[in-house]
Amino acid sequence: MTWQDRATGALLGTFAGDALGMPWEGAPPDAIPAVLDMEPARLGAGTYTDDTEMAIALAESLVRRDGVDAEDLARAFLAAYDPRRGYGGGTTQVLSLWREGVAVTQAAQRVFDGQGSLGNGAAMRVAPVAVRFHADAGVVSAQARRSAQVTHAHPVGIDGAAAQAAAIAAALYGDDPLAAALVAARTQEVRDALGELATRTEGALEPHLLGDGGGVPSRADRSVAAAVVAGARAGSFEAAVTVAVRAGGDADTTGAMAGAIAGARFGAASIPARWLAVLEDGERGRSHVETLAVRLAERAR
Ligand SMILES: [Mg+2]
Repeated sequence: MTWQDRATGALLGTFAGDALGMPWEGAPPDAIPAVLDMEPARLGAGTYTDDTEMAIALAESLVRRDGVDAEDLARAFLAAYDPRRGYGGGTTQVLSLWREGVAVTQAAQRVFDGQGSLGNGAAMRVAPVAVRFHADAGVVSAQARRSAQVTHAHPVGIDGAAAQAAAIAAALYGDDPLAAALVAARTQEVRDALGELATRTEGALEPHLLGDGGGVPSRADRSVAAAVVAGARAGSFEAAVTVAVRAGGDADTTGAMAGAIAGARFGAASIPARWLAVLEDGERGRSHVETLAVRLAERAR
């Protein structure tokens, strides 16, 4: 497996997991089939949602600035924004505040009664940061936190992004993603969620163990833990994304995050051809994502 194959796997894995999970967003685990294919939903089979759209914008900004530049990243998110991709409420509000002229560094703190978002919106898009900065765990964490703060002011929302980035970076090296996520996490919430799920799923990686009765919630601590455990423990890319999506609830995002980790672990070549063949292409589709993965991997060398 080449370094480039792993780097491309992290980005295309985000895309494939997102597109596979989209039709099952909000579904309970027992409604989701055991074998997944790209089903038509929202913009059609193989299309991505806000998770991948924001990851593409983050990758473009990282290539341009060679690091997280909050102002440039906010412009990239606004330029990429397509409401049909299904954005979360908090992020939609932050983007509106920027358009109204609120400073990039201020808007994220104004949502959710001044608490900021603790959702998984910063973690779901973080794969490009892991690819670019994987060589130094401290830099991965700092850059992931900086990329998160643009839209997520709550410590759990930021910490989830750092833990997810650490898991992807470890997977790129062939190290244990779960151990790396635990080292990177600073909040009790993210540490507890990772530790509890790791214990609960010891010996059996079952979809119903990754969430609660109704599926995986969109809180960053709970959904990052589900994705990291699936991505770290499953034996193949297909198995990782399948168990993450079948856990239900926020299925597109759990699928995207597990896909990023498993893509980095097993490489882009491990993504089933029947899934890759259906991914949307064109100006901002699959080939653009592959080009961004090459640019980031070159800069990381
Ligand atoms: Mg989504």
